[in-house]
Amino acid sequence: MSALLEVSELSVAYGAIEAVRSVSFVVEEGQIVCLIGANGAGKTTTLRTISGLLRPRAGDIRFDGESIAKAPAHLILGRGIAHSPEGRRVFARMTVEENLLLGAYTRRDESGVQQDMNRVFELFPVLGERRQQKAGLFSGGEQQMLAIGRAMMSRPRLLMLDEPSMGLSPIMTQRIFDTIRELQQGGTTILLVEQNALAALALSDRGYVVDLGQTTLEGPGHDLLADERVRAAYLGQG
Ligand code: ATP
Repeated sequence: MSALLEVSELSVAYGAIEAVRSVSFVVEEGQIVCLIGANGAGKTTTLRTISGLLRPRAGDIRFDGESIAKAPAHLILGRGIAHSPEGRRVFARMTVEENLLLGAYTRRDESGVQQDMNRVFELFPVLGERRQQKAGLFSGGEQQMLAIGRAMMSRPRLLMLDEPSMGLSPIMTQRIFDTIRELQQGGTTILLVEQNALAALALSDRGYVVDLGQTTLEGPGHDLLADERVRAAYLGQG
């Protein structure tokens, strides 16, 4: 295995507010890696910076051996990084199919795009059954599926998922986590940000704790699950 994504000493600010002070982590090809930590710790800011939506103030982001810290968002997507943002930002007035096709807008291979759309419908049959309906009519869980499906449509090498379980029922959360595992088994590398630390660590090859803009603890998911500091802070058990 080799490092697909390497974030080193990343620092990102919104004006005078330093949201990310020193975040460092590595995602190896084929892994599921999660970032956990309290609200406001800087996890979303980190993903948005990797996507090219925000600029780092310091530090580096390397993808497949090359720095992408200064690259524009469309080139980063073109290199193979897709982002399913927090709060399932689907286009409410567009149909399921139209939302999915937007995720593939950088691609020219029509038959591949159709194959990938079919794969999204296999993973999430409800989207296939309602492909002509407007996304705004869907439940929160279904919109989350659509946001993940849209990110899959660029056929990414690295899929970043920001809080995919937010606001979902336990059953729907399980369905999303099973899907993340299936995507990994299909060869996609996953970077996951989750408030649901227990489930995220159980699924992940490696986890990182982000605290006040810094990565403070790291290890294999199962080791972090057993770590008393993690349990006390994030799992509600000392
Ligand atoms: P959450 O789970 O709540 O999204 P997070 O770990 O993802 O938390 P961020 O959303 O990255 O954290 O926020 C990090 C810090 O940056 C917080 O203090 C937040 O208030 C601040 N912040 C986030 N977005 C902005 C913005 N657009 N302008 C100013 N400050 C911001």
